[in-house]
Amino acid sequence: MSKAHILGYPRIGLRRELKQALETYWRNELDAEDLREAGRKIRRANWRVQREAGLDLVTVGDFSFYDHVLDTSLLLGAVPQRFRPAAGDTDLDIGFRMARGRARAGDSRETYACEMTKWFDTNYHYIVPELDCDQSFGVSAVQLFDEVREAQAAGYAVKPVVLGPLSWLWLGKAQRESFDRLRLLDRLLPVYAEIFSLLKDLGVEWVQVDEPALVLDLPPAWKQAYESAYNRLQAAGPKLLLATYFGPLEDNLYLAVRLPVAGLHIDCVRGPEQLSTVLDQLPPYKILSLGVVDGRNVWRTDLATALRLLQPVQARIGERLWIGSSCSLLHAPLDLAAEKELAPGLGSWLAFARQKLDEVSLLKRALNEGPSAVAAALDQNRLALQSRRESACVHDPELRQRLASVRPEDARRGSPYPRRAPLQRARFRLPLLPTTTIGSFPQTPEIRKARLALKRDEIDAETYRRHMQDEIRHAIREQESIGLDVLVHGEAERNDMVEYFGELLEGMAVTANGWVQSYGSRCVKPPVIYGDVKRQRPMTVEWAAYAQSLTAKPVKGMLTGPVTILQWSFVRDDQPRASTCRQLALALRDEVRDLEAAGVGIIQIDEPALREGLPLRRRDWQAWLDWAVESFRLATSGVRDATQIHTHMCYAEFNDIIAGIAALDADVITIETSRSRMELLQAFEQYRYPNEIGPGVYDIHSPRVPAVSEMVTLLAKASRSIPVERLWINPDCGLKTRAWPEVKGALENMVRAAIDMRKSFASAAATSG
Ligand code: GLN
Ligand code: ZN
Repeated sequence: MSKAHILGYPRIGLRRELKQALETYWRNELDAEDLREAGRKIRRANWRVQREAGLDLVTVGDFSFYDHVLDTSLLLGAVPQRFRPAAGDTDLDIGFRMARGRARAGDSRETYACEMTKWFDTNYHYIVPELDCDQSFGVSAVQLFDEVREAQAAGYAVKPVVLGPLSWLWLGKAQRESFDRLRLLDRLLPVYAEIFSLLKDLGVEWVQVDEPALVLDLPPAWKQAYESAYNRLQAAGPKLLLATYFGPLEDNLYLAVRLPVAGLHIDCVRGPEQLSTVLDQLPPYKILSLGVVDGRNVWRTDLATALRLLQPVQARIGERLWIGSSCSLLHAPLDLAAEKELAPGLGSWLAFARQKLDEVSLLKRALNEGPSAVAAALDQNRLALQSRRESACVHDPELRQRLASVRPEDARRGSPYPRRAPLQRARFRLPLLPTTTIGSFPQTPEIRKARLALKRDEIDAETYRRHMQDEIRHAIREQESIGLDVLVHGEAERNDMVEYFGELLEGMAVTANGWVQSYGSRCVKPPVIYGDVKRQRPMTVEWAAYAQSLTAKPVKGMLTGPVTILQWSFVRDDQPRASTCRQLALALRDEVRDLEAAGVGIIQIDEPALREGLPLRRRDWQAWLDWAVESFRLATSGVRDATQIHTHMCYAEFNDIIAGIAALDADVITIETSRSRMELLQAFEQYRYPNEIGPGVYDIHSPRVPAVSEMVTLLAKASRSIPVERLWINPDCGLKTRAWPEVKGALENMVRAAIDMRKSFASAAATSG
């Protein structure tokens, strides 16, 4: 009989219980045992739903108090020196210290945390393993084994999951000096062998070993390392199911299929076309697990199509076929049943993690018992999909027509930057080194209270509007008194830079409880793009225009860009992402023009997610960049030359895509750089970035008020890479998570730094002139 399983389940709990417990623990208001109990409760619930849904194995080891890559590092004993235990530490504290710099409030061993970065092309962040060439490893944590025992004691058939040695190494980063990470493999493998044999001693039959690095471009040495590593690991004990996901194996296909393990899992959502080659190559002893239920999106699986894919495979390999989710369900919200307010049609098109379990299980039953055994469910599925395909909310003929009539020149500004710049200079009369901010000001408890009250109908829209206007007035006054040159309205009305637009745009819906873990206790609620995206009416003009009416200084309008809205939403799967992005671009284009018409002469379109949308394979980068850049330009090119377009990016490696950034042709880019102490600018210098640039002069993540001299030093450094006439001064990112007193202190110092810099340039010009 074919087996049904998933690669992992969300661990935040149905009501974000993990977040609650973690944050209370970090405040020292919950003891470790209660935190552990919160974890046990979530695991018990997760295993129970897997069994109730009819899965044959429950996945164990997918739970984590912070991050599964961090847990792997802890399991392997890969803990950097600076995270030494302190008196009174619990077994959880080292991990928290690595993730956050401090175990709990008042931690005497507070230090800088490990780096955090995005997990492949998802919005989940993992804690980057720190690697040192002389480091040693040893099985060092019991969490995984405890959880296996816990599940077994509760009577479950368990399949533990561990992150494989090569993917763990690949995700790690050499510290101090750079060295070949593969040199650590020899020391790592005995530890993995020991982990596997310990699991075998516990009576485990199958272990899922995640090796998502196999869907990336791997150097030849890494491919060879896969062979030798798994040759050495095969003797260790339980059967290994090598799990690959997030894309097709492509050039690593033969390698992956031939590795001496008992089973292989492939992602048939992202890479269905690889199936026939995999089947042709599959050794006769091997299990093949097919991920046919999308772990990363929210759409109901087309069960008929999935069955058509599975049936011939079953005919060929019989019960060696397993059915699974494409990847871990970590990236999906938990349960559709918690959504009471979705439009009824839309609700029937979706499947969250809980519903995906049923889908996997149904497919298994259809295979094992024949489709007639689940005929009613298949029918229901077919009807729901049909209603989605035919829905008038999904297809908007008028919009399609408009898209078809877009001309290439619509994505080009009227004149090139060198001709626009003098017009803008004449219009805004800004000083040398103009100062500005990235958009948001503190989201105070009062702002949140007003938003909640509106949602609960405790205040009417008019009262809410007055609240927001008060906030805007306050923000404008403060900026004027600080002495900034280009002001913003402060984004008080925005709960989140994507959700705000998700609520207003047609074709997008927001959920009430569709939380997905972003990192640690932080969760996000991505909107769902279900249909053609259209703007019903202006979305931001009222606020920006109000702000502009209060001041003689220019106010910068603030929008989230098409690529970022796309990246941070669940995207429809019935058309290419590029098409959805273009629709978003067109909606934003109208907003940009309306802002311009309302007298807002400077407009910023944030694209912090531009980098993270890059495909996993380098070969696909250019095509992706082409349409991403084109979408941004379509959104921003409908304005006059004298209207100044800004963009903003942060917290990513930009060196790879600098040409793409330049191709956006924004008049000004503000970009996070202070963490790297302006090193990023070298890339902009080498590339000869043609337009204006505002490198962030201080990190907004800390409440610390940076000194004037620190910022002057950074600016002096920046002015060596970027001609001073094209340099702006601003913080790294938005200020919404900060409090007003520190914001004022920091911005006042920033303005002083600008004044100092202007003076020194003026006197330098005077002496040289
Ligand atoms: N304009 C947004 C803000 O200031 C930008 C946020 C971001 O880059 N993530 O908050
Ligand atoms: Zn930012």
